[in-house]
Amino acid sequence: MIKSRPPKGQPAPARRSPVRSAALGPGYSVANSNTRILGPKAGASSPLTLAPVAAPANLGLNSDRLRIQMVRRLRDQGIRDERVLAAMQAVARHDFVDQGLASRAYEDAALPIGYGQTISQPWVVAHMLATMAQDRSPQRVLEIGAGCGYQAAVLAQFVPEVYAVERIRGLYDQARLNLSHGKARGRVRLSFGDGMQGLEHRAPFDGIVVAAAGVKIPEVLLHQLAVGARLIAPEGAAHQKLILFERTGPASWHRVELEDVRFVPLRPGTQA
Ligand code: SAH
Repeated sequence: MIKSRPPKGQPAPARRSPVRSAALGPGYSVANSNTRILGPKAGASSPLTLAPVAAPANLGLNSDRLRIQMVRRLRDQGIRDERVLAAMQAVARHDFVDQGLASRAYEDAALPIGYGQTISQPWVVAHMLATMAQDRSPQRVLEIGAGCGYQAAVLAQFVPEVYAVERIRGLYDQARLNLSHGKARGRVRLSFGDGMQGLEHRAPFDGIVVAAAGVKIPEVLLHQLAVGARLIAPEGAAHQKLILFERTGPASWHRVELEDVRFVPLRPGTQA
């Protein structure tokens, strides 16, 4: 049984509006939840095909500076967790997106990663990780919806054991590749499967982060939390909110509603 309380006494977040574009890109319309953010070629199983856009050849050199600016912006936007800020400074976000989008990798925007999915905007990644890890030192964390692997790479900078699950084969392959080099090399245990089932054989987790929105957060995930640990996930269909669950005992959870957000949907099963 889940004992949950309404978000009574929860101070209204400073930035409740506008809605944070999380995993969804700016072109996404909440009113039409089946809208794919990609162009006509982007069916459910299409990889990302982008016209070649010139990325600055020296982005690699400039990216340190761009990340310093990104981290400064995150601080201005209220992110205080130094572990998260340092991790986002360390991980090269431009390595996780298509080359044609690399020059936009440090904007505070969600970007397409193919298959109709997106990489969440930096503020959302930072906020979710900081909230999950607040006042704790999680040792083992599960991410549902690895996408291109960026958020898992950030997590792995300050969490020793990171597990991530992705349900779209092409993205799983992409994430595996992205996580095989750079700062996250060999630090994320990635699996292909339906994350709505969690990862029972590795539970309990000291934190769970869900990067796609279910109409309801799968209850099985709440049972895979260690007592005292936190899960953060978007919930809802047309109108979504970030939800924070804390497991307060063997059979009790505390639920708080946070900001309005927009994420791609959490879907059951896998996609070859
Ligand atoms: N974590 C990514 C965000 C990826 S977008 C980042 O760093 O930006 C959300 C991802 O969740 C998509 O790749 C989508 O395929 C995946 N997803 C949706 N439902 C899922 C499920 N049941 N199990 C695992 N992954 C799922």
